[in-house]
Amino acid sequence: MNTSVSSRAALVLFSGGQDSTTCLAWALTRYDRVETVGFDYGQRHGVELIARQHVRRNLQKIFPHWAARLGDDLMVNLSGYGALAESALTGDAEIRMQENGLPSTFVPGRNLVFLTIASAHGYRRGMDTLVGGMCQTDHSGYPDCREDTIKAQALALKLGLDRPAQIKTPLMHLTKAEIWMLAHALGGQALIDLIVEHSHTCYRGERDVRHDWGYGCGTCPACQLRKNGWREWRMT
Ligand code: ZN
Repeated sequence: MNTSVSSRAALVLFSGGQDSTTCLAWALTRYDRVETVGFDYGQRHGVELIARQHVRRNLQKIFPHWAARLGDDLMVNLSGYGALAESALTGDAEIRMQENGLPSTFVPGRNLVFLTIASAHGYRRGMDTLVGGMCQTDHSGYPDCREDTIKAQALALKLGLDRPAQIKTPLMHLTKAEIWMLAHALGGQALIDLIVEHSHTCYRGERDVRHDWGYGCGTCPACQLRKNGWREWRMT
């Protein structure tokens, strides 16, 4: 257990998707030590859990100066939470817009749970900075992605842990096109190629169909955001 807190270390909430891969690259350009944490909450497919290992390995291979900073990875089993908060992401329900204006893929309280668990891990590892890919610009209206929610959670963690606590959300005000642009600024075409080939976004877990923006069904809300962002970025 590491009890000394380092402001030069960051713990990235890393799912293996486009956004959290970009966040990981962002952290690797800013912090001396970067660790990752991921959550298995009973997603309907295990594709993104495999993708995150491929992304980490390829980041280490392609960017040796980042490899030296990239530390441990922890997978946390939250299948009990997934069963409790069952949604289209964790069960077999259809992916659709609900009457309350939220997509059926909304998992109630997901980011709040993830941030709390991550902060407990960071506490033990001597890291008070969490990095997450929450974004309120382009997303599906998830209330736990809003900046106000994240700010309130950072304050709750600071009080609850009685220690400095920061939640960095570099994507908060970016569109999907701007997230591609940020990835390019951080790691050039090599990082874009890595994200296209190895990160996973599709809600349906499709890995057989390859588009210019990566693998996916092309029609679920996550694929549409990724695809439209890619096209917008390529046009500019
Ligand atoms: Zn899809």
